[in-house]
Amino acid sequence: MPIDESMVKNIVQEVMAKMNISDSPAGKHGIFKEMNDAIEAAKKAEKVVRNMSLDQREQIISIMRRKIHESAEIMARMAVDETGMGNVGHKIMKNHLVANGVPGTEDIKTIAWSGDRGLTLVEEGPFGVIGAITPCTNPQETIFCNTMGMLAAGNTVVFNPHPQAVKTTIYAINMMNEASLEAGGPDNIATTVEVPTLETSAVMMHHPDIPLLVATGGPGVVKAVLSCGKRGIGAGAGNPPALVDETADIRKAAEDIVNGCTFDNNLPCIAEKEVIAVSSILDELMHYMVTEQGCYLASKEVQDALVRTVMDEKGKLNRKCVGRDAKTLLAMVGVTDEPEDTRCIIFEGPKEHPLITTELMMPILGIVRASDFDDALEKALWLEHGNRHSAHIHSHDVTRITKYAKAMDTAILVKNGPSYAALGFGGEGFPTFTIASRTGEGLTSAETFTKKRRCVMVDSLCIR
Ligand code: NAD
Repeated sequence: MPIDESMVKNIVQEVMAKMNISDSPAGKHGIFKEMNDAIEAAKKAEKVVRNMSLDQREQIISIMRRKIHESAEIMARMAVDETGMGNVGHKIMKNHLVANGVPGTEDIKTIAWSGDRGLTLVEEGPFGVIGAITPCTNPQETIFCNTMGMLAAGNTVVFNPHPQAVKTTIYAINMMNEASLEAGGPDNIATTVEVPTLETSAVMMHHPDIPLLVATGGPGVVKAVLSCGKRGIGAGAGNPPALVDETADIRKAAEDIVNGCTFDNNLPCIAEKEVIAVSSILDELMHYMVTEQGCYLASKEVQDALVRTVMDEKGKLNRKCVGRDAKTLLAMVGVTDEPEDTRCIIFEGPKEHPLITTELMMPILGIVRASDFDDALEKALWLEHGNRHSAHIHSHDVTRITKYAKAMDTAILVKNGPSYAALGFGGEGFPTFTIASRTGEGLTSAETFTKKRRCVMVDSLCIR
């Protein structure tokens, strides 16, 4: 269905105006002034959730799904308006994907042993109140995935979101609590503070009522969470390479890579951030990217101007460039005469090029030449920086794909498709925007937010 842009914009402006911080949202469905109050309220809600049946939790989750579908457009525009990052159409797709695909209570499993000495079950139980830190790149998607998964597992959650996405986050948290209330559940199954800071984050991280922390973001937050002496789930940074060898369908590889790289203006941590192509097919690959996939081939001058614009001398990203589209980035360096449908900026460069080695989160795709497959693999491994997050490959040689997968050792590896296939867009499997690359849980879902508990009945209940 086509989007009525002006109508959605008006609604978003109305909502954003109503959410002016001076008109404090504190006290409304999960929003508090003080972090300690947000934790206390989530703890109170958790006592109710703990005693709810799986069916009651599922009812709340199904209302969440409906509300996410209904507000997919508004939330997408709100996130782009507030953060300045991303693509409204793609964010709408991400919201629908989450509403449809995030697993509910069916994700919680039981293991059983029965025999002469009775029956033993291993059940997956809740942790209690979980502390979660969320990024500005997927602000509402992360809130939705975390809340649904954590609630399905019987937990409640306190968020410390990115300050750049606080209004979007508050709107999403309000919505999660409204779903709970509508299903007869408690308020405050998800809470936050109206002004999140590093101080509120520290209060949350060290609070005795929070046994599990989940960090979705860059290396700083993952390190902070994993250093605070509690169980931590770390969903950290990536710099995913896409390797293309001479056995691949080169035309399709060009299409898949550009589709993945430009999705939501390259914000997803799993998106193709650079390409390593075997020399014999590199020119052909770039040819298809330029002639069929809306890529702009950047000269050395434009590359240099981009380096000066998108990062400072120390390599720190210019936030005004993160998540912007290719046309906007080109305009920032004085290139204004490119067609409207320009999707991506490409160039060939060495692996050490700052636009290649840095996780940019912009539709700028450097292409590194490799002499052969083994050279390409070595370069891809170097460029992934040991994040073990995501890597992609286009090849029809199963032996090479296997070698690449083993060497990269990443949480996600997409073969012969766009990176977003890993999230269930045109690939099998469920979506999430918290990919625990650092601590090994991989793509998180309800089961990730449980602890295993063994229940033993001695000498009875075995009926074999
Ligand atoms: P960011 O690291 O700047 O911020 C993420 C969150 O951490 C924010 O809420 C921020 O306020 C908080 N934070 C940052 N440093 C902190 C510290 N020392 N202590 C406590 N909190 C701290 O990241 P961003 O710009 O919002 O998101 C982009 C980054 O996140 C990229 O590196 C991307 O790869 C990564 N990311 C990873 C995943 C994943 O699932 N693995 C998902 C989304 C984003």
